[in-house]
Amino acid sequence: RKFVYDFSEGNKDLKDLLGGKGANLAEMTNLGLPVPPGFTITTEACKAYLESGEAPAALRDQVSEHLAALEQRMGKKLGQADDPLLVSVRSGAKFSMPGMMDTVLNIGLSDESVHGLAAQSGDERFAWDSYRRLIQMFGDTVLGIDGERFAETLDATKSARGAVTDVDLTADDLKELVGKFKAIVSEETGRDFPQDPREQMDLAVRAVFDSWNGSRARLYRRQERIPHDLGTAVNICSMVFGNLGPDSGTGVAFTRDPASGQQGVYGDYLQNAQGEDVVAGIRNTVPLADLEQLDKASYDQLMQIMETLENHYRDLCDIEFTIERGKLWMLQTRVGKRTAAAAFRIATQLVDQGLIDEAEALQRVNGTQLAQLMFPRFDSNGGLKDADQIGWGIAASPGAAVGKAVFDSYTAIKWSRSGEKVILIRRETNPDDLDGMLAAEGILTSRGGKTSHAAVVARGMGKTCVCGAEELEVDTKRRCLKTQDGRVVEEGDVVSIDGSTGKVYAGEVPVVPSPVVEYFEGRMHAGADDADELVKAVHRIMAYADRVRRLRVRANADNAEDAARARRFGAQGIGLCRTEHMFLGERRELVERLILAGTEDEREQALGALLPLQKGDFIELFESMDGLPVTVRLLDPPLHEFLPDITELSVRVALAESRKDANENDLRLLQAVHRLHEQNPMLGLRGVRLGLVIPGLFTMQIRAIAEASAERKAAGGDPRAEIMIPLVGTVQELELVREEAEQVIAEIEREHDVELGLSLGTMIELPRAALTAGQIAECADFFSFGTNDLTQTVWAFSRDDVEASFFTAYLEKGIFGVSPFETIDKDGVGSLVRSAAEAGRATRPDLKLGVCGEHGGDPESVHFFHEVGLDYVSCSPFRIPVARLEAGRAAA
Ligand code: ADP
Ligand code: MG
Ligand code: MG
Repeated sequence: RKFVYDFSEGNKDLKDLLGGKGANLAEMTNLGLPVPPGFTITTEACKAYLESGEAPAALRDQVSEHLAALEQRMGKKLGQADDPLLVSVRSGAKFSMPGMMDTVLNIGLSDESVHGLAAQSGDERFAWDSYRRLIQMFGDTVLGIDGERFAETLDATKSARGAVTDVDLTADDLKELVGKFKAIVSEETGRDFPQDPREQMDLAVRAVFDSWNGSRARLYRRQERIPHDLGTAVNICSMVFGNLGPDSGTGVAFTRDPASGQQGVYGDYLQNAQGEDVVAGIRNTVPLADLEQLDKASYDQLMQIMETLENHYRDLCDIEFTIERGKLWMLQTRVGKRTAAAAFRIATQLVDQGLIDEAEALQRVNGTQLAQLMFPRFDSNGGLKDADQIGWGIAASPGAAVGKAVFDSYTAIKWSRSGEKVILIRRETNPDDLDGMLAAEGILTSRGGKTSHAAVVARGMGKTCVCGAEELEVDTKRRCLKTQDGRVVEEGDVVSIDGSTGKVYAGEVPVVPSPVVEYFEGRMHAGADDADELVKAVHRIMAYADRVRRLRVRANADNAEDAARARRFGAQGIGLCRTEHMFLGERRELVERLILAGTEDEREQALGALLPLQKGDFIELFESMDGLPVTVRLLDPPLHEFLPDITELSVRVALAESRKDANENDLRLLQAVHRLHEQNPMLGLRGVRLGLVIPGLFTMQIRAIAEASAERKAAGGDPRAEIMIPLVGTVQELELVREEAEQVIAEIEREHDVELGLSLGTMIELPRAALTAGQIAECADFFSFGTNDLTQTVWAFSRDDVEASFFTAYLEKGIFGVSPFETIDKDGVGSLVRSAAEAGRATRPDLKLGVCGEHGGDPESVHFFHEVGLDYVSCSPFRIPVARLEAGRAAA
């Protein structure tokens, strides 16, 4: 098997085999760019090593061959005493991964060859500097010695010599430092720093292989759902030196601004430095533009190369380069990471440059980025500049939140009830903090990562959250927050947190609405000359998406106001109108009357009182969605939700009885509450069961829908109601409801002399319904997959309980990468959706299929729904643009 590829043998499409870095080094080599020669050991070799614990014999031979060829080409041997070839050993998996070993530079230096390097370069200082770097990096990453030991020794030497930076150290200083570093190695490992260059190289390669299974790397892969069996490649690259004096240096650059997408010169350069000095922030870098003054020829060549790369990759690239005594070398490139705003702008810029087409532009952005752009944010032109940053944590759930600091859930609830905005600050959160989190504008913790309780729950709630702000000390006893420099934020002081950047500020930072939302709301026009560049880009990309998508997008909206916003955001109807809120507030009393009704008469009176109210709601809704479908779900929740709390009522009645003035109604209420009390209401008397057991309830709702439709028609409107029955488990339930519905509708059609064209369908949200979908379709005009309940019932997860209690642990253990309530569980819940859709369509080819769970607005889930052939997804009004975009991406 071929385990080793020369840089000239690979290309950018071989990432699986050569890793990202190796594939792109090969691509640059083949483009004729100046890449120091080298070769890549494949991921296959890594896998073989990890399986057997031994590097395959063929690998050793192939490495020897490639090394010999490299030595031949360079005219010197690895570690050769009088003129050493030096190499770097660089890891490079398909996906870059924190927790993996990165890179060892200057492999091949030894007590002997360091003199050869000094003689050849005519620079003693440089040679010793390179050697001490080798021992330091090798000691840390290959031999596993705590890097602090080297760093401390380096610092001690610097202060002893009065050196400000390491450039101020002389050759003799560095020589001494090498001695000390070698002593550390012997002390820590019980053996001397290896002097054989090939041994150095082999040990480094092996360390890269081993780092694939390091615990941090494994954890990262579980969380990011990267398979564990990919393995990493290793790149052996001949060294070039940026630390050979002032006409040398090293830098990083972007082909355009990764923050805004603007074209220009972006990057940092550091003179007389090697490798990671730039990013490590050891010395101050200069802006890349200054390189033009320092070395015009190299600068011009670099600009030329960046243009070549951009045209070749047809995307923003980031690069690493080194200049060795005036000669430019390219050390790395890849398609660069970018902010959400830049992603949209770059995609449209590249379309304008003719580099990509619209379909490809759609693949360059995603719904998660669009969602980020829709959060309100701190005003970067105004207040943010003067904002008083006191800490920085992990950006766990986006948005900008401002409020008074509170340090426990109880205070959060109390203050928010009295109208204060609060930020809940905890060391870490646990299920007891749930109500406080709900009451708060945002959540800040000093411990925990992206899968901590605070992060998971906040994302689920859509609350802004910064977690793991470690330099902030949360003192819950004294109710204050201490910053590293000793400042104190007391309870009640205002703080601002940015869930998109992780930054924490003291005081109030002004918040501005997102321009993208202003655009969707119609308050900002993409066509205007002075329109925001971002808005123009979003407008164009949304137009591409709408042009190609097959899935329609509807909204979950219960009232005319939400419906109107949904329409502005591009909704093509309502996929779920819940009717339960129409029974709350002042109307609760009417529902109580219905529940307490002892006689037929009483019941009819109660229903009769509810009817006109329901009808009024529907008229408004149908009007705001005129011409578009509106799916109305009949009453779903258990009735006890409309009754007083059992404990409160019991206490009230008991007190009244002790005073001997218990009122008749309370007593009856209490009886009803007891009668309706359920251990497990989610699985109790709700949905269609309610409709079949409470006479007249569904009929009243259906009548309200039908009469509202009739009135809208009479008024010249175009109402398109669809009646949806929740929680159906068997076709018999649906048949009974349908029979009754058809009678009522026929009656009203006769009365008003119109055809209402009402359709009647069901939710598929129970496993039994999904499993018998073929039968149910006999009686349904449409299915709407209720994936929230379906997820609960398929997993036997009570969402309200599990998210707060053990999901964190499950996420940390990698049992899921993301909550199944956030992204549809394709293998389980998803496979039921798929088979039910197929069975339903087999029975009734024109069966309309949609989804109304929250998954309807989740990017990955939208792609799944596209793939299984649904007609539409329905989601909350705010998610509609995301669903439109992802539906377009799925189809493009
Ligand atoms: P990372 O993936 O952490 O960026 P790299 O393998 O790119 O690791 O290397 C770390 C640093 O060392 C980078 O700045 C890179 O440019 C530099 N470097 C790597 N190989 C060489 C080499 N052969 N000559 C000079 N510098 C190198
Ligand atoms: Mg790099
Ligand atoms: Mg449901």
